[in-house]
Amino acid sequence: MFNNLPLEAYLSKYFNFPSFRPGQRQVVEGALSGNRDILAIMPTGRGKSLCYQLPGLLLPGTTLVISPLVALMKDQVDSLQAIGIDQATFLNSQLTPAEQRQRLGGMVQGRYKLVYVAPERLRNQAFTEVISRVKVSLLVVDEAHCVSQWGHDFRPDYLWIRQFVSSLRSRPRVLGLTATATVAVQKDILWQLGIPQAEKVVSSSDRPNLFYRATTVHSDAEKRLALKALINKSKSAGKEQGCGIIYVATRKDCEQVAGWINSQLGIRAGFYHGGMPPQERTEVQELFLREELPVVVATNAFGMGIDKANIRFVVHYSLPASLESYYQEVGRAGRDGQPAECLLLFAPKDKSLQQWMIKNDTLTVKELQAFLLLIKGSAAGSELYLTYEQLAEKGLEETKVRVAVSELERVQVLHLLERDGAGVRIEVITDTLDREILQRVLERINRMTEERHKKLEVMTRWIHTSRCRREALLAYFGEEKPGATEKCCDNCAPQGKEKRNQSADEVSRAGLAVLNCVAQLSAPLGRNKITDILLGSRRKEILEGGLNRLPAYGQLAGLPGREILQVIDRLIGDGYLASKGAQYPVVILTNQGKEAGAQALQNGNAGTEESAGLTRELTAGAAKEPAYKAVGTVEAARGLNHDGSKAEALKLTIAQLMEQGLSQGEIAGRVDRSEQTVTKYIAQLVQEGKIPVERLVPWEVRQQIYLALEKVGMARLRPIKELLPENVNYADIRYVIASLRQNLDEEKSGTDFTAGVN
Ligand code: ADP
Ligand code: MG
Repeated sequence: MFNNLPLEAYLSKYFNFPSFRPGQRQVVEGALSGNRDILAIMPTGRGKSLCYQLPGLLLPGTTLVISPLVALMKDQVDSLQAIGIDQATFLNSQLTPAEQRQRLGGMVQGRYKLVYVAPERLRNQAFTEVISRVKVSLLVVDEAHCVSQWGHDFRPDYLWIRQFVSSLRSRPRVLGLTATATVAVQKDILWQLGIPQAEKVVSSSDRPNLFYRATTVHSDAEKRLALKALINKSKSAGKEQGCGIIYVATRKDCEQVAGWINSQLGIRAGFYHGGMPPQERTEVQELFLREELPVVVATNAFGMGIDKANIRFVVHYSLPASLESYYQEVGRAGRDGQPAECLLLFAPKDKSLQQWMIKNDTLTVKELQAFLLLIKGSAAGSELYLTYEQLAEKGLEETKVRVAVSELERVQVLHLLERDGAGVRIEVITDTLDREILQRVLERINRMTEERHKKLEVMTRWIHTSRCRREALLAYFGEEKPGATEKCCDNCAPQGKEKRNQSADEVSRAGLAVLNCVAQLSAPLGRNKITDILLGSRRKEILEGGLNRLPAYGQLAGLPGREILQVIDRLIGDGYLASKGAQYPVVILTNQGKEAGAQALQNGNAGTEESAGLTRELTAGAAKEPAYKAVGTVEAARGLNHDGSKAEALKLTIAQLMEQGLSQGEIAGRVDRSEQTVTKYIAQLVQEGKIPVERLVPWEVRQQIYLALEKVGMARLRPIKELLPENVNYADIRYVIASLRQNLDEEKSGTDFTAGVN
């Protein structure tokens, strides 16, 4: 009810919709009541806009909508106009100064109920002056995941929102909206927007009409064949049925694949990427919406906020960077509820491309240094305008400038005043650059990079899994599969089921040999080396490392190496093995992997006598040895030979006891020291890179600790602990800090990053 009328009355009056969709009413009611902030998580196409448009029209004053999608603001305002709502407008850099002035004037006069702005506008002086004279009753943050660095589409400008809200004379309620956010990202959104107490309205992100398929291919020719099959299938279903988006990784691919579809398949396909002039991009988008272009080949720059109901397929011609991006992109298919197909074509080399992109995006010590040199010598309080041209000369392209600016702003070295097409205007806050501060900046950059590598691993694991893809996707976003769907995924289709049963019931000979090999390793290795061992390779690294003496050596000789790699990937995808480490991942055995080995032995499923032997060995090995041995106990022992100190000996003992799987309490008893002392030594082992932190602190907990460190730094433990839930203890915090120090040691590798700055 609102003003004694049911909300449906307004819904039908303004929008002509008969009823709310799931989740909408709750958000609208919450926003109207005005007694708390809200974070709404709702799948793409469900109708998030309505959740703020309706309250915006009903509330007194103005509703300010922050959206990253400058190109779509006009669409939103136009479609409101089309249904007779003319109290909406937008402000962005595409307007002329005169238009901007006119709209700002209108805002002061109270002409608008809804005003759309891009986040960078919040720093614009003309705008903030006007806003101080306007009553803002609701502040909406659309695509709220953009505020989180852990999300898949981080926009540093979003970090400004929090400060903007608190600068308003009367603080409006905040409503954040997003489609895809993992639980950790949801938490981060609340924190970054400064709305920790917000009510969360989560509606299931399941899309029962989407069919998921992921296929591994080994060449572009294979990709094109698969694409052709899919396009022809939808073509034969009629023109209307054929709309689709094909996502590729590079601009070059965009143009090539679109050209190929046009010339070889006789279908009109356009392309869209960030390197095209804005008018051309808008044109492609409009042609696609009007169905004059049934297919668009695009980079991930395309699609956010696109409201087209009948997209029948989304193809990933290249590997997406994370499951979040993937789910967001496929979410654009089938908004009308009719069946739609999501096809991912995976070529192993695509992963290297993604890895390269992560590396390329990471701000290096040298680049940070170059940036700092540009502001060196400017007194505190002075203003500087740095052009992109000038920055590019120093090897800093736009994305890196954004990262550098937002990271340095975070540690209060500078303050971003304005950003336009040609450069950035900053205020220098301090001209003395503290070493520790810079260290913190580097730590954060490192961590963000590590996180991206992890997301890529999760993405590839999903591709290789033989488990239900829908279930795996939903589990990743913290949901359970809501029940059977008619057409689910390739793994649930009859053929896929067969494959799955195979993998669950009987670990195939090759699979078993792989598990076995991993169990025999004294230090974890990467998948290529494991393959070499199983093939019986005579390579130098294998022979010199004595790996040819392992029982698994040569067990799969004769099999194509590629097939073994596939088996490893599938075992990872299914959770029998896990891939650890970002840059040079190694493969380890999980508990499930150990159990599978044991089960195969019990059931006699392993087939041949030979593989039963393998199983026995595997199970025995697994029981005796932990899946993850402390890397480099050998190194620790060597260290002992060198200095032989008591402390080193104790550390070595502790490392060995850990290897035997003893708990920290038990170890403390054995070595007759307090648990705290044991913790201290383990932290040292972590910092020396001898025990991976992954083995000690679960991912979720690490994530929480990272977030806390970001807020209070790592100088003192207590403030960190205070930000964390009860179950996170001091030892966890110490280990995580130790692992960060280790990464830092590696990163620094002799470079003094303050050299030449001060
Ligand atoms: P999202 O932002 O969640 O991706 P949009 O806000 O763009 O989705 O809405 C998608 C489509 O759903 C729009 O065409 C909108 O008009 C329509 N829509 C929203 N709410 C309703 C409703 N209650 N009944 C019918 N259609 C709706
Ligand atoms: Mg939207």
